[in-house]
Amino acid sequence: MATQTGGCLCGAIRYEITGEPVRAAHCHCDECRKATGASFATVVFFKEEDVKVTQGTPKQFFHPADSGNTMTKEFCADCGSQVLGAGSGSPGVRSVRVGTLDDASFVKPQMELYTGKALPFTQLSDETEHFEAGRPR
Ligand SMILES: [Zn+2]
Ligand SMILES: [Zn+2]
Repeated sequence: MATQTGGCLCGAIRYEITGEPVRAAHCHCDECRKATGASFATVVFFKEEDVKVTQGTPKQFFHPADSGNTMTKEFCADCGSQVLGAGSGSPGVRSVRVGTLDDASFVKPQMELYTGKALPFTQLSDETEHFEAGRPR
């Protein structure tokens, strides 16, 4: 895959991605909703070593997930864009918020998580696998 780039709204945080996505998902959980301010989050996962912050330092926020894992949200302290993330349940993997990619046309979400919490006006895709809660392991 060609190198992908992205960043926050104000441009203070920029990142570069080199490898193929591990997976991509729409997440309808309450935490993703709060963190993004959107009705659901679309998240692309990459191997940690494939994602490099090339400008700025994202601020980190840690919170517990209902799975018991600790989730990390990485966002711009200036404009508030949530750019990256990680979870203690997925070591070696870093997530990228799809809206922060400069060109997200390569992203193909395969699954929707926490569909049990999807807002009533949200249309679930026919092209994704649906999970009532988190991704089964
Ligand atoms: Zn910013
Ligand atoms: Zn979520």
